[in-house]
Amino acid sequence: MNAGSTTGSAGGEQTLPPIDPDSLRDSFRGRLITDPADIEAFATDWRRRYFGRAIAVAQPDTVEDVAAVVRWCARNRVAVVPQGGNTGLSGGATPDASGRSVVLSLARLTRVRALDTINNSITVDAGVTLAQVHEAAHTAGRLYPLSLPSEGTCTIGGNLSTNAGGAAVLRYGNARELCLGLEVVTAEGENWNGLRGLRKDNTGYDLRDLFIGAEGTLGVITAATLKLYPLPAAQITAMAAVRDPHAALRLLELAQSMLGSTLTAFELISNLCIDLVLHHFPDQRHPFAQAAPYYVLLETSDSESEAHAGAQFEALMEQALDQEIVLDAVVATSGTQSRSLWALRELVSEAQALAGKNVKHDISVPISSIGTFVEQTNEAMQRAFPGIRMVVFGHLGDGNLHYNVSPPVDRSGPEHEDEFLALQPAMNRLVHDAVIAFHGSISAEHGLGQLRRDENARYKSDVEMALMRRIKQALDPLGIMNPGKYLPPQ
Ligand code: FAD
Repeated sequence: MNAGSTTGSAGGEQTLPPIDPDSLRDSFRGRLITDPADIEAFATDWRRRYFGRAIAVAQPDTVEDVAAVVRWCARNRVAVVPQGGNTGLSGGATPDASGRSVVLSLARLTRVRALDTINNSITVDAGVTLAQVHEAAHTAGRLYPLSLPSEGTCTIGGNLSTNAGGAAVLRYGNARELCLGLEVVTAEGENWNGLRGLRKDNTGYDLRDLFIGAEGTLGVITAATLKLYPLPAAQITAMAAVRDPHAALRLLELAQSMLGSTLTAFELISNLCIDLVLHHFPDQRHPFAQAAPYYVLLETSDSESEAHAGAQFEALMEQALDQEIVLDAVVATSGTQSRSLWALRELVSEAQALAGKNVKHDISVPISSIGTFVEQTNEAMQRAFPGIRMVVFGHLGDGNLHYNVSPPVDRSGPEHEDEFLALQPAMNRLVHDAVIAFHGSISAEHGLGQLRRDENARYKSDVEMALMRRIKQALDPLGIMNPGKYLPPQ
């Protein structure tokens, strides 16, 4: 590992200085992992689609130590691959295969720095998990509303770097909208403290918004100040069975008119998703006696009481049944029932991963177009790839669907995986062309990473790509921050 290189991943094609990992060990306080067997888990993504190599995994103890690692990488022209919980679904936290990267894990930056119930804000280190933020907020009688199935493992740094979405975007917005301020170690190893807990601040270009959603390609987020909300008095969950996404949209319109802003989640789940969950998690139960093509999971957050929320839901479902929008409905009457309904939604990604390799699309279109988009694109997909199974679920209330594809039943299993994955580019083309025709986005909440880097460049205008490249060049002049992700190499 001591030799120089001419084709390193950082800084493009040039003669690179030799690397001495021992000098990295001496340059910061924290943990340094250099055994390849221990590095492997950090160099493989959650879906096991990307397998990279790294010189080491650095887990600094403090922000100053994060900066020291970045400076070491800059001096040695070594790529920095920031990593939080490694739950990202686009390969953004996985180093490339060059072996000239350091995975910079924020796992040891885990302090809750401050919580202010008047300013309604919390300041945490980047390595704090989403579930820990929920817990800290809850203890103080507050809500941090970002809600992802990966909450026990994913970190605030990762949430902000991917601008994560999840189930509560409908009411509270995505990670960007929940962030007031950031602390960042720049690509040159300097520390920028922008931890302002302000709702209003017009004092220059919004650097915070540049780093949010940048997937570690511009700098390392080391801490964040996040918005908190009052805890709702009651949260009630219901599930409705519907014929198709058109009916789900009619239910959304009715729910918004009857429940207003108390409607906090509106998730679509196809019956195939429920089947997958029930197959791989046999403890789960189907909530309806009779299966329907699609289901909607709804949640209200009420500021009055559980009884008030329950009555509102009952009234909504009565009207929806009368108008023949829904085929059947259940309203959870206990926390346990509510958690079981949510589990059916939250286990879909894991169930699909357990079922074998699949092709994922994380798309958004204007909410009103979703019914027609699904109908037309499903038909086109079946014509082009007969027998494939569409695993359609997601955050219908904000226009984001996980429009995933599993192989035909008689072509599933490890022996058919290569054959199925060879169809991925053609499937992407068909789905993404349809998304663009519907004025949508090919990357709604999971980020670009390695998975959608080239697809994104294909659909963006030259002007937009050039502006993004200029931002990258300005903030990361050596090109060491997570190279090979987000923007294709030039
Ligand atoms: P990582 O995977 O470690 O990293 C993700 C990206 O951020 C990488 O590019 C990495 O380099 C960068 N990064 C990480 N930390 C930092 C930092 N401190 N500074 C700079 N860059 C950094 N996502 C959703 O949006 N909505 C969902 O509903 C959702 N559901 C999921 C369900 C499951 C079962 C799983 C496994 C994932 C799901 N995800 C979802 C995706 C994932 O959990 C989120 O993208 C999450 O925000 C990633 O956080 P992380 O800490 O694991 O980041």
